[in-house]
Amino acid sequence: MLSDNEKILVTRSSMPDFDEYVEEIRPLWESAWLTNMGVLHEKLHDELIDYLQVPGLTMFSNGHMALEMALDAMKLSGEVITTPFSFSSTTHAITRNGLTPVFCDINPDNYTIDADKIEELITEKTTAIVPVHVYGNICDVEKIDKIAKKHGLKVIYDAAHAFGVKYKGRGIGNYGDASMFSFHATKVFNTIEGGAVSYNDKDFEKVLRYLKNFGITDKENVDYIGGNAKMNEFQAAMGICNLRHIEREIGKRRKVVERYIERLDGVCGLIIQKPQEGVESNYAYFPLVVDNYKISRNGLYDLLAENNIFARKYFYPLITDYNCYRESFKDVKLPVAKRISDNVLTLPCYADLSLDTVDRICDIILGVK
Ligand SMILES: *Cc1c(COP(=O)(O)O)cnc(C)c1O
Repeated sequence: MLSDNEKILVTRSSMPDFDEYVEEIRPLWESAWLTNMGVLHEKLHDELIDYLQVPGLTMFSNGHMALEMALDAMKLSGEVITTPFSFSSTTHAITRNGLTPVFCDINPDNYTIDADKIEELITEKTTAIVPVHVYGNICDVEKIDKIAKKHGLKVIYDAAHAFGVKYKGRGIGNYGDASMFSFHATKVFNTIEGGAVSYNDKDFEKVLRYLKNFGITDKENVDYIGGNAKMNEFQAAMGICNLRHIEREIGKRRKVVERYIERLDGVCGLIIQKPQEGVESNYAYFPLVVDNYKISRNGLYDLLAENNIFARKYFYPLITDYNCYRESFKDVKLPVAKRISDNVLTLPCYADLSLDTVDRICDIILGVK
């Protein structure tokens, strides 16, 4: 069997130098303050506000709880329009809040929610839209904003893939009523596990702060039915270290993506995503859609695996095809999402992936007879 070092996986966590991390956590042995919004938590919070250029930010134990609690804090009811082409977390966060997801198809250019198909799904029960910035591609934030204003809906973005992305020079977390970022180990920026919600409304901050700490408002009062989703000091320390090197990491990802594009752009039967106008990308993922190529998506997946390269069928299956949702959504028609999901493969993409390996992956793909 191969060791993990010989396998090329779809992603690999960014790590600071060991000594750098140790220096960051050393003071914790003096203070013995390990969680509950400690010094490192507050430091990372301020640094992230700066980096993401957002007016307000609350950090969480992970991205999923950040999204679940953001939806909770909005006091929504009824139906929420979202996309089936995402990670399970997006729909689970809606459903676990007692809300009904209503699935909108995606657009074929960047795989985000098709803003032109949102309005036809709005009913008198609709209270919010939860779009996803898929692979770091941004949604049509302007069109979504117009629709939301016209119909009085909240917009909560799943921005798990979009850390550091800017649109027209503005941090992506400024759009909509709130955005959730994931700092999971596999994401562009990680705090081991972690996440955050950004927002404009300062009152929102209080509610989120209490919700993630059991709803406790002071020593003798519990005003909200909260949970526990606080980021601890070891997570924050990892974030402080990783944030120091984020520009370099994104720069290295950029080189990986540029090499893929150089090798694969214009090849008949292979579709790669086009850079979006006005968007400063974080190069989070490199999806390839296999469209009448010499080999199928599944064939290509197997061929790469035979060469110790483990791409991911990401996002396959669609959320509407999960065992836990299939029965409820069997009549929903989502032709574009279905086609992309059946044919997409995300190729290895991370900061430390060598360009030689990218070339080797491209050689295998292009060498198919
Ligand atoms: C990673 C991810 C999440 C969940 O984030 P965690 O930090 O892993 O809880 C939610 N949505 C999308 C699209 C993701 O990729």
